[in-house]
Amino acid sequence: MAGASAPQVRPATLYPPPGSVPPTNSSEVQHWLKELDLSGAPDICLNQGNPPQCDSIVDPNSCHWSCHNCAADDVVACPDLNIWGLSFDDGPTNITPDLLEFLQEHQVRASFFLIGGNVVLRPDIVYEMLTQGHHIASHTWSHKALTTLTNEEIVAEVKWTEKAIEDTIGYRVKYLRPPYGDIDDRVRFVLKKMGYIVVDWGGDTFDVQDWRISGGQVTPSQVIINFEAALDTHVESHSYSRGGFISLEHDVTVDTFAVAKELIPYGLSKKIDIQPIAKCLHDAHPYQTTLSAEHMPVKSNNSSVNRVTHRPTIITTTTTSTATPIKSLATVQAHKSKNSTQERAESDRMAAKIARSASAISSAGAADYDPVTWLGAALGSLLTMAMVWM
Ligand SMILES: [Zn+2]
Repeated sequence: MAGASAPQVRPATLYPPPGSVPPTNSSEVQHWLKELDLSGAPDICLNQGNPPQCDSIVDPNSCHWSCHNCAADDVVACPDLNIWGLSFDDGPTNITPDLLEFLQEHQVRASFFLIGGNVVLRPDIVYEMLTQGHHIASHTWSHKALTTLTNEEIVAEVKWTEKAIEDTIGYRVKYLRPPYGDIDDRVRFVLKKMGYIVVDWGGDTFDVQDWRISGGQVTPSQVIINFEAALDTHVESHSYSRGGFISLEHDVTVDTFAVAKELIPYGLSKKIDIQPIAKCLHDAHPYQTTLSAEHMPVKSNNSSVNRVTHRPTIITTTTTSTATPIKSLATVQAHKSKNSTQERAESDRMAAKIARSASAISSAGAADYDPVTWLGAALGSLLTMAMVWM
């Protein structure tokens, strides 16, 4: 799905600081709020804590997912037999390039539920995810428990993440996983107003529990043994006949990567078909938009030719994050020469990149990426690039 041409450098100051709930009094958030009618939101009291402890959930009738196992109409499983809906939360991080390379080697595609504050620090990796055929989704801006936030703060968390991803890949995300699985009916109402499909996971059985490694509660080898046993049980037991499943897994550290490196080949050896979430749901349109209007070529006032007025962007890392910068496409793009010959070479390189994307994405499956839609987007991107470099 070639939704974007190469990322460009864009100041991180255009986005809220990573790691904090974005302020709701900014002009951007106020604009987003004006577009939403939240007047019918369920009157459920805010919880406390990050995440809230289950015995502290204020309203026992709020249909809380992770504490009361109440999923409402959240997605919790892949419907078809023998399908593993693979997803990684909390990226992009410094380990993500290694994970992407590993997935590429095994021809496996996944859904990545990304933290918006991380996206603006590593947009080149997000762009690479798209070109390799993975499915990109939201995990909010700062990873705060959503049932503890006001409706307005939830909008700020989700819309800033949506914008950061759209600025990077050219598509508006459609799927969201609430941090910690902390969601109730009030949060669901607000998310649906913004067009989101909520994805939880297959309960304790399919929680890989890799998030417990960093706290020393469990070792990587224990995690691997436990989840391999869950896969065995799923394949061999009657539960197998009830359809596929969605796992909860993370893209954060060397240890979480080590777990993925063991579990994915194990699943493949069991003849389980591993797919991104949108594909396992047979969603031919895994994003809210195709190519956003913002990224479409428009007529320039100063020229008779169409020009792109805004392209997906790389954000310069001027914030105070402690994250280690990664040498990347961003660096290449940031120092791109203005020399026309070099520009032409760059255009050719990008065309080749888009062609590789086509190959990767088509191998990801038609159900996930409708070929007609994709072909249109790909041709649009190639046309866009041609116009940009003319
Ligand atoms: Zn998370």
